Amino acid sequence: MSVKHALTASTAAAILAATVLPAFAEGELNLYSSRHYDTDERLYTDFEEMTGITINRIEGNADELIARMTAEGANSPADILLTVDTSRLERAKQAGILQSIDSDILERRIPGYLQDDDNQWFGFSQRARILFYDKEDVENPPMTYAALADPQYEGQICIRSGSNVYSQTILAAIIAHEGEDAARDWARAVVANFARDPQGGDTDQLRGIVSGECDISMSNTYYFSRAIRRDVEGVSDSLDMFGWTFPDQGGNGAHMNLSGGGVAAHAPNRENAIKFLEYLAGDQAQQYFSAGNDEYPAVPGVGLSPSVAALGFFKPDDIDLSKVAQNVSTAQQIFNEVGWE
Ligand code: FE
Repeated sequence: MSVKHALTASTAAAILAATVLPAFAEGELNLYSSRHYDTDERLYTDFEEMTGITINRIEGNADELIARMTAEGANSPADILLTVDTSRLERAKQAGILQSIDSDILERRIPGYLQDDDNQWFGFSQRARILFYDKEDVENPPMTYAALADPQYEGQICIRSGSNVYSQTILAAIIAHEGEDAARDWARAVVANFARDPQGGDTDQLRGIVSGECDISMSNTYYFSRAIRRDVEGVSDSLDMFGWTFPDQGGNGAHMNLSGGGVAAHAPNRENAIKFLEYLAGDQAQQYFSAGNDEYPAVPGVGLSPSVAALGFFKPDDIDLSKVAQNVSTAQQIFNEVGWE
C-alpha cells in the first residue's frame, strides 16, 4: 500500500486537493474509495499479492471524491471509484466520471439487477432498507413500506432527511413500482406520521427507538448488524427491545441498495481497474467486502457473516437498480414538495 489517507469529512477537501498520484505507472492501480473498513485491508493486500499490482488509495467522503474526479477531468489519475448507494453511483455516471466496460466475469457473477445498464457501475455488496420498531410499544408493526402512510402510525415514525441518498433511492424505487403520483401521496402521508423532524443518520433512528422518541424507524440493515457485532453506543445495550420487519415480503420484497463502483472515465490503468473489479466479484473478496460493513454479498451463494445472518432470511426486491436510479431527481423533487426536509 504505497498511499493511504484515512480522512475525516472536515479535513477531506484540503488533503484531497494536496494529494498527487502518478497518472500511469505499470503495475499500479489508483483507487478512489469512500470505504474504510478493517477487513478491506485483507481485500487489498490479497489483490496485490495475487496480481503484483500495487494499490494506491485515496480515501475520502463520497461526494468529495466525485467532485474531485469531476474537477480533475481528463487528467484524473483515478482508475476506480468505490462508493455506496445507487443514487450516488448514478450521480457519478451522470457526471461523466465513469466508463462502460466489458467483462464476462462481472456479467456472470453480479446479478443483472445490481448493475448499471451501460456497465458503468456494478454492485459488490447489498444492504436492505428495512423497518425497526419498539416491540413493547408497537403491537401491529408495519409489514409494508406502504403501511408507513397509515394514520395509525401518526407521531411514531423516525426516518432520515429527504436530502439523504438512502431516502432518495428508496423513494426512487417506490416511483418505479407505483408511479410518481402514488409515491408523492405516500411521502406526504409518511411526513404526517413523523415522530420528529428528520435528523441524523440511520444509527440515530435506531437510538430514537431506545430513547423512546421513535416507535418505528427505517434503517439500513448493516447499522443494526454492526450493533450486534460490536458495541454501538445507544443501541447495542438495548438490542432486545427491537423488532424488525423486512417489508413487502408478500409483494416486491425488501428494498435493496448497494455498495459498488466502476472504472473511472479516464482511467490511466484501465486493464488493472477491470482486473480489480473482477477480483471483487470472487468468493473470498465478496466475503471480505460484504463482511467489512455487515452487508449482504452481491454474488449469490457467498456466505453471510454471523451478524448479518442474525437478521434472518427475506425476499429482496430485485427490481433493476439502474431503472430505479433514473427516478432519483424526481424523488428529490417530491421530497421538496411534501416538506420531507
Ligand atoms: Fe450508511
